[in-house]
Amino acid sequence: MTMDFASRVQRVEPSATLAISNLAAELEADGVDVVDLSVGEPDFDTPQNVKDAGEDALEAGHTGYTSSNGIPELKEAIAAKLDDDGLDHDPENVIVTPGGKQALFEIFMSLIDDGDEVCLLDPAWVSYEAMVKMAGGTLSRVDLSPHDFQLEPALSDLEAAVSDDTELLVVNSPSNPTGAVYSDAALEGVRDLAVEHNITVISDEIYKEITYGVEPTSLGTLDGMADRTITVNGFSKAYAMTGWRLGYFAGPEELIDQAGKLHSHSVSCAVNFVQHAGVEALENTDEAVVEMRDAFEERRDMLADLFADHGVDVPVGDGAFYMMLPVDDDDQAWCEGAIEDAHVATVPGSAFGTPGYARLSYAASKERLREGVERLAEHGYI
Ligand code: PMP
Ligand code: GLU
Repeated sequence: MTMDFASRVQRVEPSATLAISNLAAELEADGVDVVDLSVGEPDFDTPQNVKDAGEDALEAGHTGYTSSNGIPELKEAIAAKLDDDGLDHDPENVIVTPGGKQALFEIFMSLIDDGDEVCLLDPAWVSYEAMVKMAGGTLSRVDLSPHDFQLEPALSDLEAAVSDDTELLVVNSPSNPTGAVYSDAALEGVRDLAVEHNITVISDEIYKEITYGVEPTSLGTLDGMADRTITVNGFSKAYAMTGWRLGYFAGPEELIDQAGKLHSHSVSCAVNFVQHAGVEALENTDEAVVEMRDAFEERRDMLADLFADHGVDVPVGDGAFYMMLPVDDDDQAWCEGAIEDAHVATVPGSAFGTPGYARLSYAASKERLREGVERLAEHGYI
């Protein structure tokens, strides 16, 4: 029997970031020592107090379903965190999801109909494009690569890319895959265009806690943005909790009502005891977050210096833990070669909409980063 698959899944490819990290894992299982700089995942363990809170919650019997949008304690802790960021959300206007990815999926599926236009700032994280396509939307894209991945100098391109037909714009600052943190002037430019064309904006702030010497502004704090911004965040990156699968979004009540239907009919709720651990993460983990952030900053600086020693100038962002290394035009072939010959795993820029680059995650030890650069140099990749 052959199955007749829906066009919504046939329109997309599997996640490139996860595909390459799976390939690296397969090579490792065959005994190959791979320097895996592909997936964006902190190499730190989850802070002990968070693990303890998860265990305590399990022991206390928090093992059943929770109310669909999340336990009240966590929604309150999230509203308090958003308040610290200058965003005013009632806890009832938060949906707690199994990962930020699910939050984004629910938002796209709630807002995008067939043919609706979504604007992305390229390079953009791989799953935005896939989610838009699954929802039936079309894409309009703005290339930030000629501007060292900054948005401010590309505002005129953004102006040309959006119109009254644009339904949604996605802003991810600090950015995956560039690490760029957009300036206040850039965000104000986004605001002006969003208001002019009545565009809803997703502000994906999953790397907000991981910045180096700058304080990123939350888009929803800007005048005119409170009722048109959906703020997405999660626990994977700041708290090294990728496998716990915990994230959330906050937005206008009408969105919560509509997306809540998708949420309750698909995941029911995020994992009960994980939500309790999330409260601990938000309330008592500042020190561990700062330690991880400091380590990422040192690694970023070291990696940029190592590339500079080899004559390669890599644009360095002020946040997240990614760098876009300029490579051959055929970045796919470059990345395949780098993993096969040098055993260094990276993700082609074309997966993010920007060919000619390879994305490196520097959420790896300094020793492994050094080893990675040495291997790339030895095999003639830099
Ligand atoms: N947004 C961005 C920009 C990301 O890089 C990720 C990483 N996967 C996510 C959202 C979702 O992460 P998670 O589902 O682990 O919370
Ligand atoms: N966000 C991470 C990355 O870009 C995790 C993998 C994924 O979900 O795509 O590598």
